Amino acid sequence: MTGQERSEEKSECVSLSPMMEAVPAPPESERVCVFGTGDLGRSLGLRLLQAGYGVVFGSRRPHSRSSLLPHGAQVLGHAAAAQSAHLIFIAVQREHYDFLVPLANQLKGKVLVDLSNNLRKNQYPEANAEYLQSLVPGAEVVKGFNTLSAWSLQNGPSDANRQVYICGESVEAKQAVIAVATKLGFSALDQGFLSVARELEDFPLQLFPQWRLPLRISIGLSAAFFFYLLIRYVIYAYVTQGEDISFRIMVSLANQVCPIVSLIMLSLCYLPGVLASFLQLYRGTKYRRFPNWLDRWMLCRKQLGLLSLGFAFLHVLYTLIIPIRYYVRFKATERTVSVIRENRTTEFDTTTAWRGDSYLSLGILGFGLYVLLGITSLPSVSNALSWREFSFIQSKLGHLTLLFCTAHTYLYGWNRFLSSSTYKWYTPPGYMLCLVLPSVVLLLKLLLITPCVDRTITRIRQGWERGADQRNPKDSQPLIP
Ligand code: NAP
Repeated sequence: MTGQERSEEKSECVSLSPMMEAVPAPPESERVCVFGTGDLGRSLGLRLLQAGYGVVFGSRRPHSRSSLLPHGAQVLGHAAAAQSAHLIFIAVQREHYDFLVPLANQLKGKVLVDLSNNLRKNQYPEANAEYLQSLVPGAEVVKGFNTLSAWSLQNGPSDANRQVYICGESVEAKQAVIAVATKLGFSALDQGFLSVARELEDFPLQLFPQWRLPLRISIGLSAAFFFYLLIRYVIYAYVTQGEDISFRIMVSLANQVCPIVSLIMLSLCYLPGVLASFLQLYRGTKYRRFPNWLDRWMLCRKQLGLLSLGFAFLHVLYTLIIPIRYYVRFKATERTVSVIRENRTTEFDTTTAWRGDSYLSLGILGFGLYVLLGITSLPSVSNALSWREFSFIQSKLGHLTLLFCTAHTYLYGWNRFLSSSTYKWYTPPGYMLCLVLPSVVLLLKLLLITPCVDRTITRIRQGWERGADQRNPKDSQPLIP
């Protein structure tokens, strides 16, 4: 350090701890520097202090920033701050990175952690981290921590935000960043070289990428069944009987659409697994790639399942409010009054009681398992389960949920499947249509668990290949293109 720089540091240094002079400064390995005293810089600084690091902020205006910064941190000018630590977090917007160019000498050999994000994808020709590396070629740039928000840093690593992704050219530099991340309570995932930086910068800009297809499916199904049921019930009643039952749109129709969409989406969650098993059986090997559409479908099963749970939950809520509906109370009173007036007696029908109770019981069991599936798909819960436990719940109990919910719907239909009055304008009711897919999935699953098929599929999954001895190795399609 030159004499001029030393005096610059002395004049610019602002200690935020009244005890700072008495407390010996931590060694350089335990000291980190944060350039930028904005939202992210301050939150990161606070967490670093809480983890036991000495924190030195680099700022354009160290004197005016001191009151904003966490207690115990130091704030210096950029040049002096850069010399106080080996690892420097750059919590400054990319547009201002040119302030680093005159600091090239002080930054030589230092690890610069690029935290920056962009407002939109492809905003700049190169990744921010690559741009930073080009401005300061003597430093080791590591991209990382950019997927965290200032808010989540202040709150500590929660279950949903435990991972930080990093990438960079230098293994030592990445190890230094991983050590800090680990001490802060995060698990750092090394994604490779700096060329991956753009991907990491695009990550926070993603808008529910894995939810898009399931959301589209659920919206499409809801809209299609809503209009189908509107025609079959409300418009049919108006056209054929001149009756206005449009008020039923709000609860009755919604309470039909929700279970229908829920059951179809639950079947769509289990159908790709069944199709994949049949494909492996047909090919006689697991060493060939599934078609892209099947891969994509399998990757969004969790989202399909969670959305289907959401619709099931709405169905439960709509069902629970049935007794307090004006229409239901009016009809019940009217029926009771007419029975009394006409002095009629009604026989207790045990079959109907059995049917009603079984229908409700299967619905409750199905929903209970549904909730269990939803809970075990949460990362904090699934991380605590062994692979066998997870697959038992998601596969075995998942198919059982589908069975219960399908049986619940069959019991709802009961003898109406054979009654011609059910088929208004020659169309089947919604619940009959929604039974097609789950019935197919359950039948196919039944085939797969028959002992001879199950044995073959288990062998295939353990690596056995049909006709492997005779086949030319060049014939098999590689898994990685
Ligand atoms: P911010 O609140 O605007 O703070 C940026 C800081 O940069 C300022 O406080 C300032 O500190 C410094 N600065 C501003 N203009 C400068 C210039 N011309 N030259 C040198 N330094 C300058 O921004 P932020 O929200 O903390 O974000 C900082 C970086 O982290 C951004 O690249 C952002 O994309 C990224 N990031 C932010 C979050 C978040 O939740 N906020 C999350 C992930 C990533 P001084 O006045 O002390 O010099």
